[in-house]
Amino acid sequence: MFGLIPRVVWMKWFPGEGPDAIDAQNRMPLEQNSLLLEREGKLVVVEVGIGDKMSAKERGMYEQADGGIHAALGAIGCDARDVSAVVVTHLHFDHAGGLTRRGADGSAVLTFPNAEIITQRTEWEDALANKSTMHKTYLRDHLGPQVAERVRLVEGEAEVLPGIRVVPMAGHTWGQQGVVIQTGTGPVCFVPDVMPTKRHCRPTCNMSYDVEPYTSMLSREAMLSRAHAEGWTLVLDHEPGWPVFRVERDEERGGWGLVESDTAIKRK
Ligand SMILES: [Zn+2]
Repeated sequence: MFGLIPRVVWMKWFPGEGPDAIDAQNRMPLEQNSLLLEREGKLVVVEVGIGDKMSAKERGMYEQADGGIHAALGAIGCDARDVSAVVVTHLHFDHAGGLTRRGADGSAVLTFPNAEIITQRTEWEDALANKSTMHKTYLRDHLGPQVAERVRLVEGEAEVLPGIRVVPMAGHTWGQQGVVIQTGTGPVCFVPDVMPTKRHCRPTCNMSYDVEPYTSMLSREAMLSRAHAEGWTLVLDHEPGWPVFRVERDEERGGWGLVESDTAIKRK
């Protein structure tokens, strides 16, 4: 998760014991955060997590705690069939696996049968071509023909739905995008794997499976500087604690700092 940064350094960012610490199998706490947006009766989901199709062995590797996006929506009384659009930042399994779920006969079925699925064209094409540094991350069971039928491909920055913009943030993948939502209390940006947790708010904090680490570093700087200039509230995709922050200049370190914020977001 921290690329070139030596373990002895990043271990200091996970002090002590408990849910915030590194476990005996060298695993760190991470979540797959999603946003549920509602405007004029329309529901939009940003990011859908791993889903529920992993084998027992894979679930053990990740120690996946919940039943995926479908169960999470159900738990708050939301029917996935009522969602009209899904925006995914990129198509790695831990972000887009939840586009499908395990159907009654065990095969993958659409989680959001009535939603269009919005992603960058580059990301879609790279996913189908399996252009990744990890062999098993663009999984066929969430990229099949039923998903292809519902995909809307976007090129570059664009307003994809009223008040919802996608902003390219390349580096982790070539086609990765952030999602910026206009709210009554200012813009909220769902941040993809350009800065997955608050501990990645450093120029060199790339991940070892970024396709272009240097590009990722530039994208992170551009995202943080735009967030500061335009007053974005950030929601981090893998932050295990409270994932909502605003950006401040860190004069001491000469970079950016994150300050927890409670603006606009409800945790469910
Ligand atoms: Zn990820």
